[in-house]
Amino acid sequence: MESQFLENTLNVIKRGVELGGFPEEFYKIISRPKRILQVSIPVKIGGVLEVLEGYRVQHNDALGPFKGGIRFHPEVTLADDVALATLMTLKNSLAGIPYGGAKGAVRVDPKKLTQKELEQLSREYARAIAPLIGEVIDIPAPDVNTNPQIMAWMVDEYSKIRGYNVPAVFTAKPPELWGNIVREYSTGFGVAIVAREFARKIWGGVENKTVAIHGAGNTGAWAAYWLEQMGAKIVAVSSTKGSIYDEKGISSKEILTYYREKKFTRETIPDPDVPLYADVDILIPASIENVIRKDNANRVKAKLIVEGANGPVTLDAERELYKKGTLIVPDILANAGGVIMSYLEWVENLQWYIWDEEETRKRLEQIMVNNAARIYQNWQKQQNTLRDVAVITALERIYKAMKIRGWI
Ligand code: GLU
Repeated sequence: MESQFLENTLNVIKRGVELGGFPEEFYKIISRPKRILQVSIPVKIGGVLEVLEGYRVQHNDALGPFKGGIRFHPEVTLADDVALATLMTLKNSLAGIPYGGAKGAVRVDPKKLTQKELEQLSREYARAIAPLIGEVIDIPAPDVNTNPQIMAWMVDEYSKIRGYNVPAVFTAKPPELWGNIVREYSTGFGVAIVAREFARKIWGGVENKTVAIHGAGNTGAWAAYWLEQMGAKIVAVSSTKGSIYDEKGISSKEILTYYREKKFTRETIPDPDVPLYADVDILIPASIENVIRKDNANRVKAKLIVEGANGPVTLDAERELYKKGTLIVPDILANAGGVIMSYLEWVENLQWYIWDEEETRKRLEQIMVNNAARIYQNWQKQQNTLRDVAVITALERIYKAMKIRGWI
């Protein structure tokens, strides 16, 4: 099983195991997924039967049930899915929630499917993985190209198999079906909170700081909204096709309109990377992995980078930026708002309880603030990068659980 992504992920873990002084036995377990399920999903596409390949990788459950999203992507491989499941184990551990890590994937381009075909695919995939998931076993959620509607079809299909409603088996469901309204903006909200907390440490506050956002998807657009509420000024934003730069500030309303309608309301610069190199205080890469690499790291001017996407800064780029004094808040801390909100929704569902928006948001904020403070404190005590500190902190919690269980 080979992929650059998996190799990078394992390198990050290996480094964490070495720096943290954990035993080799621990690496042997944590470097491999506990269980892999591969499924074949028959779907009629354009009237022709196609059999799609899908997976559910359950990486580790030392801390609790497996937890992680499902992505639909034309290029996803099993090795990528293993890497993503591994990152979920770290993210959930660092977040302090009682979950292990998992990830699911189907190799398909969902943009080529009709709504009916997408529904059929979602239901078939839920049926295919049903024997291995459950509200206290493995709890999937959305990831790239999947959304609350898809979760609604899946929870409906799974409930039919069990013969009664099982709300807690999937999270990030629509508010109409046992979901929580905060989940729609939770990842971007969490990114904004983490940016604010680190801005307070560096500058005493986030007010009037300039921000560039690479990628105006769900995470980027909502991070823009919340940072604006906090008094920051968004000056650059991009989509896959182009960018906007405006020193006077870009309203988050305009960015959210782009996110919803996929069209900017003004002329764009035909270069999607303008935000990456903008002269700003804070950069939020919120699109895909590997956008800041060794070859372009020297062009990045921001003092603080908060990773909204998974893996946007490569390790060699990080080394370059670190030398310059740039602070990079790693993905497993910065973008954990989504899965932390999933945890809150799951707790509600298990009790058939409902928290209102404000109460839920307060709980989410509290967890994110505490996690940022914990990592900042650990970082002050160590010589390593924030990413190394976050990985070591995540590994430590998993290690202790495994040790006390007697696994190692
Ligand atoms: N897909 C999101 C992530 O990578 C959320 C997972 C979840 O809510 O379980 O963190």
